[in-house]
Amino acid sequence: MIEDFSKPEAAISKAVDTGIEAMVVVGIERETNAVAIQLAEKFHSIWATVGWHPNHASDYTSQELTTLREQLAHPRVVAIGEIGLDNHWDHATPEQQEQCLFDQLDLADELQKPVVFHCREAYPRLLALLEKHAPKRFMLHCFAGTKEDAERAERLGGYFGFDGPITYKKNHELREIARQVPLDRILTETDSPFLSPEPLRGKPNEPANLIWVIRGLAAARQIDEDECRRITTQNARDFFGINP
Ligand SMILES: [Zn+2]
Repeated sequence: MIEDFSKPEAAISKAVDTGIEAMVVVGIERETNAVAIQLAEKFHSIWATVGWHPNHASDYTSQELTTLREQLAHPRVVAIGEIGLDNHWDHATPEQQEQCLFDQLDLADELQKPVVFHCREAYPRLLALLEKHAPKRFMLHCFAGTKEDAERAERLGGYFGFDGPITYKKNHELREIARQVPLDRILTETDSPFLSPEPLRGKPNEPANLIWVIRGLAAARQIDEDECRRITTQNARDFFGINP
């Protein structure tokens, strides 16, 4: 997400100047879904996702599926997301979150769209659901599970999103996970405006800061930065179906 919806130009051109070819802006409810699509229509480096985030599930009803279905037919909308489960916040009840999630998983199946999962403190529950039936292609955005969670997701063919936390000094376990998951299943993200990478922690995040995530990931994998850029760009193109 871009912090200031009214002035995204500066953040986008700064990101493009650092060599970022393509960015996916995520929607999380009605308003941001619409904004993500507007940005994707306006900027050739931007693609969009649409979905109802678990923290907005209390505002969700199944009637939203009509709009989502229409939006997902848009050529610049490349995935359903963020959808998932969040046990950290209690903005929506577990029942509301599951209804919202199940509806959208059915839609992903119907439309054969990739899924971007948000999962916070809910990996065992989400993975158990996915082990019964997983979408055709999915990623766990901003992966923050355990090694065991990562192994379960890997067996299901899942992709892993790594963000600023890969650069945080204390995050040894996350770097170990990043070393162990298949290189062709790794995606890089910023989660802007949150989770700024070292050395920019505490400031609002923006897409140009992806270079620090790439650097942290390359160091964890012991590969060079250019190779890390090239591979993660290709992975994102494969996952979202974005052609150069
Ligand atoms: Zn999220």
